[in-house]
Amino acid sequence: MAQHHKLIILGSGPAGSTAAIYAARSNIAPVVFEGMQPGGQLTITTEVENFPGFPDGVMGPEIVDIFKRQAEKFCAKYIFDEAIGADLSKRPFKLQMHEAEYTCDALIIATGAVARWLGIPSESKYRGHGVSACATCDAFFFRDKKVTVVGGGDTAMEEATFLTKFATKVTIIHRRGELRASKIMQEKAFKNPKIEFAYFSLVHEIIGEMNPPHITGVILKDVRDNSLRTLEVDGVFMGIGHVPNSHIFKGQLEMDENGYIITEGKTTKTTVPGVFACGDVQDHLYRQAISAAGTGCMAALDAERFLSSEGL
Ligand code: NDP
Repeated sequence: MAQHHKLIILGSGPAGSTAAIYAARSNIAPVVFEGMQPGGQLTITTEVENFPGFPDGVMGPEIVDIFKRQAEKFCAKYIFDEAIGADLSKRPFKLQMHEAEYTCDALIIATGAVARWLGIPSESKYRGHGVSACATCDAFFFRDKKVTVVGGGDTAMEEATFLTKFATKVTIIHRRGELRASKIMQEKAFKNPKIEFAYFSLVHEIIGEMNPPHITGVILKDVRDNSLRTLEVDGVFMGIGHVPNSHIFKGQLEMDENGYIITEGKTTKTTVPGVFACGDVQDHLYRQAISAAGTGCMAALDAERFLSSEGL
């Protein structure tokens, strides 16, 4: 027999936990399914220096824990499990977790997104020690250093442009001779004297030292003749896209071509009444902890209004 809750929140990053704090304070008694990486992308960030309220910075995992404690203080219940299936065709909505089946009257999807990584061993070895997928989070650590950004889309252009505020030189590594990014973003990058391009190039390996861990460069492979060359850099940023964690809702909620859930106007309403989406699963533009938290608050308010309007 499935367990029923008025409101289920999927995801425990800044969006999910903010939704939980607001919903719990409205006496909705939300149940939060933390997902397999509780806290989401913040837990793989080192120091967070741009979240208001922490003038001395805060470590990613610590702020996640603070969010959770604040929500639990108001009796939000956190469960370590993730949704592996969903039926949103009728209410109550059905959710299949690894451990059990649940139903709910309202659902907040705050499942986030994951950065796309290259998948080479040296990338994971130096992650957090020179290898990053978030320039906004980590650019500051590369003041007066040389860095590289992998990718040829808008994310790569944006990350590279942002990095030039700190780094002395930013090399964009792209696997083709033509960028995928929008013309306007390309132009901006072309005009920036600190940005250089390494076309027809793949990152073959990231090289560095372990004591203390830091990187010294990347070995690039030219896709035209397979030749290898070393580019000396202090940081590597992945800008090869993000993947929203929305696959279990495919065909049930309207999404854009990249799988981001579409929300209505300035609300968090999805195409199914009673289902709300917040945070990175519906936002490929801002992708910040603080903007995710803001939409988490909106989702809780939207859910609360929905439940009241349904007499629940
Ligand atoms: P995209 O999918 O647009 O671009 C990804 C880039 O990474 C492509 O150039 C791709 O190469 C390259 N790439 C992918 N996988 C690999 C790999 N394994 N090795 C090497 N290179 C790889 O993703 P974005 O995140 O850039 O953009 C996603 C969406 O978000 C787009 O719609 C974009 O317009 C939007 N966006 C808008 C922004 C804005 O308006 N300010 C900012 C950021 C994103 P190839 O071209 O060869 O496929």
